[in-house]
Amino acid sequence: MSKRIAGPEIERLIQLLAKVPGLGPRSARRAALHLIKKKEQLLAPLAAAMGEAVDKVRVCSTCGNVDTSDPCMICTDPRRDPSTIIVVEDVSDLWALERAAAMNARFHVLGGTLSPLDGVGPDQLTIKQLVTRVAEGGVSEIILAVNATVEGQTTAHYLTDQLSGFDVKVTRLAHGVPVGGELDYLDEGTLAAALKSRTAF
Ligand code: ZN
Repeated sequence: MSKRIAGPEIERLIQLLAKVPGLGPRSARRAALHLIKKKEQLLAPLAAAMGEAVDKVRVCSTCGNVDTSDPCMICTDPRRDPSTIIVVEDVSDLWALERAAAMNARFHVLGGTLSPLDGVGPDQLTIKQLVTRVAEGGVSEIILAVNATVEGQTTAHYLTDQLSGFDVKVTRLAHGVPVGGELDYLDEGTLAAALKSRTAF
């Protein structure tokens, strides 16, 4: 048991901050101290913003995204092409793809990947909701933007199977050489995938 260095309110702040991804106990102490020193400029606005987020954040019942409205801003944006749905594992992947700004499509957040060993089956993910969206019509392409892991690929195969009865094109992200990547530094799996999915020059 480590020695307490401050009152219970500050200790609690440090303990909670230490649970944030990317912050360990040491970084949590530094962050807490920084927040306390900047009480008016940072701690108070942060507490207010968090309170508002607690009140307003929802999970979109259509796509599984998080937002302050249900359906979310992406599902209700009339400028997006509703015929293309990009399927991702997590909201962080949705945000990453949105940063790339390469497509103006809709999304579907699965909430994870199939992993029988961890007790994650199809019912723990939003697979039924995806099939329902496709069954309702108007969707011509499903882009499986899942991670290139064993679980990601297992999930992709399962989804392809579930969607095989519908008139919808199922595609996946290319695997291969990253932009700016040097061949000598790539692992064998990536190189083999890049060779297999080569395209006409
Ligand atoms: Zn949505």
